[in-house]
Amino acid sequence: MSKLESIKGIGPKMKEKLNRNGIYDCFDIINHFPSRYEVFHLIELKDVIDQKRVTLEGKVTSPALVSYIRRNFNRLTFNLLIENRSFKVVIFNRDYLKNILDVGEDIVVTGTIDRLKNTFTATTLKLKRNFKNEIEPIYNLDKVSDTQFNKLVKASIKEYSYLIKDELPSSLIKKYKLINYGELLKIVHNPVTKKDLIKIDRRIKYEELFKFQFKMQYLKLKNKSRKTEIKKYDINEVKEFIKKLPFELTEDQKIATNEIIKDIKSPYVMNRLLQGDTGSGKTVVAAITVLSVLSAGHQVALMAPTEILAKQHFKTFSKFFKQTKYRLVYLSGKLTTSERRDKLEIIKDNPDTLIIGTHALFSEDVRYNNLGYVITDEQHRFGVNQRKKLREKGFLPDVLYMSATPIPRTLAISLFGDMDISTIKEKPKNRTKVETKLFTNNQMDLVYLLIDEELKKKHQVYVVTPLILDSETLDLSNAQKVYKEFSSRFKDYFVGIIHSKVKSEDKDQVMNLFEENEINILVSTTVIEVGVDVPNATLMIVLNSERFGLSQLHQLRGRIGRSSLKSYCLLIYSETDTAKERLEILERTDDGFLLSEEDLRLRGPGDFFGYRQSGDLKFKRASIVEDSKILEIARDDALAILTNKESYRNLEYSLMFNYLKNVLRKTNLD
Ligand code: ADP
Ligand code: MG
Repeated sequence: MSKLESIKGIGPKMKEKLNRNGIYDCFDIINHFPSRYEVFHLIELKDVIDQKRVTLEGKVTSPALVSYIRRNFNRLTFNLLIENRSFKVVIFNRDYLKNILDVGEDIVVTGTIDRLKNTFTATTLKLKRNFKNEIEPIYNLDKVSDTQFNKLVKASIKEYSYLIKDELPSSLIKKYKLINYGELLKIVHNPVTKKDLIKIDRRIKYEELFKFQFKMQYLKLKNKSRKTEIKKYDINEVKEFIKKLPFELTEDQKIATNEIIKDIKSPYVMNRLLQGDTGSGKTVVAAITVLSVLSAGHQVALMAPTEILAKQHFKTFSKFFKQTKYRLVYLSGKLTTSERRDKLEIIKDNPDTLIIGTHALFSEDVRYNNLGYVITDEQHRFGVNQRKKLREKGFLPDVLYMSATPIPRTLAISLFGDMDISTIKEKPKNRTKVETKLFTNNQMDLVYLLIDEELKKKHQVYVVTPLILDSETLDLSNAQKVYKEFSSRFKDYFVGIIHSKVKSEDKDQVMNLFEENEINILVSTTVIEVGVDVPNATLMIVLNSERFGLSQLHQLRGRIGRSSLKSYCLLIYSETDTAKERLEILERTDDGFLLSEEDLRLRGPGDFFGYRQSGDLKFKRASIVEDSKILEIARDDALAILTNKESYRNLEYSLMFNYLKNVLRKTNLD
């Protein structure tokens, strides 16, 4: 009954156009709010600020002239008298206005003025008699004009809006003095005043963020309510292990360890993120918790995103567990059939085992034996599906994600809103600070000198470039070109190259040679970003550093300064770029959390790693950066409702729970 055809003005053609915009019935029309508003606020000349967008009224004093500049590009010009002052108006691609702009016509123009030159560059132009609304809704629909759509909206609202109920609980509407859905519909498609815009904005932002949090917090609670076996770990063994470490744990490490172990021994499933700067000592914390689970008689799996990292972890953990009775198995996708068979056999038969590898860990044929704990390093690939698969195999392991990219608070509570978070801020005391310096492209001679100096000291050098292959459009350094350049320039040294297109065996070989100081200069793309540990490398050169986010550069910088040797990070940037100011932050601070906040502020959340689909964070109106306060409030509100048993029977919330059911079904998250 709410079919599109039921509205006057929608025939088969319009129906098809609407469908193409994802609009299938009249409720879709009503709920397709403007993506933004164009505000035409008439002002007087004395209030104009040059080069700022303004709307003014004037009289046409010369016939309009059109010049055709090239295909699909023309310019219309005419003189306009505004309050006794004459301006030359320029507007592009409006040749069709020529015929309606008669001399003497009163018009309203929006654009920017340059009073020195007496010019007015217009973006919108209307006849005075057609100028009604100061605020116009912009829908951004394909092939359907804003005016057309606005008419359909009005007709649909008239017919059907009485059927739409407010999903947002009335108590929250009251609490924040928001407008309710009915009031929203009255103004959202045709706001009259700026106050209306504010009301619309507040209501929509809160609703978006509340719904988002309602879902996230629900998932978190649900996950937490899944019962698993209580792991009775051997506290003495754990204490002994910690005592034998060659250093004292930092306070943050102790807290994180306790948080994780508390989860491990609780009857509920853990879903936790452990975040901390590179070198803050996450791996040790992970090792302690691995031991506790092993001591409880459960297997542990540790998954790394790349072969290099998996191997590195295997080495590190082998050292940690050398003195213990536990077994380590390395599982990669490239074992021979018989090797693989042997390892799978071991995994199948021995619960006292830590299995380390890439995502090969979760291929079909791996039969775990009492798997109780899964750690994934630097990554996102251990998703809902893998969890589900394990559940189907009868395992409900505790899960820990390790991340070396500190996540800004607002991102953490949105991206990882469904998880608990442990944070290591403090760094072990013996870390040396890396000296960071900016250089422009034209100062490479200086850079080469510094490289030479480090090489003479038998130290090693990383050279990082943004792209692998030549790209004609982007004049960026790229690994292969740089590799050639460095090979011929530093003839007395060995230069290696590594990037994602290098075959995995070759990669291993190059990494091994670098670790043994057989390779002195390693040219690479960002594959070395995480985890790699070569203490003798003291110099990092990042070419085209303006291409990288601050957090990413900070990560790269974490590859050096891994011993008592003084280390330097040189960021090379092209002078034409405005990046200098941004990059200078890296010279000043080595606080990963601060840098990630800065990244978020400067580049928005889209850039924030492939962690989780950033699609999760695409709101129509709200921004998790600017509206972080609302985001937090909404989280608390959602949590308050979800944790109260009464809520589930309270009619006030029934529409919100309905909404929840629908999104969970749609996203297949249940
Ligand atoms: P992350 O995994 O966070 O990058 P690691 O656990 O690899 O950090 O630790 C980096 C280095 O610091 C390792 O060599 C580790 O042995 C050492 N380390 C870790 N914790 C401490 C500590 N509390 N005191 C001194 N050194 C530590
Ligand atoms: Mg690490």
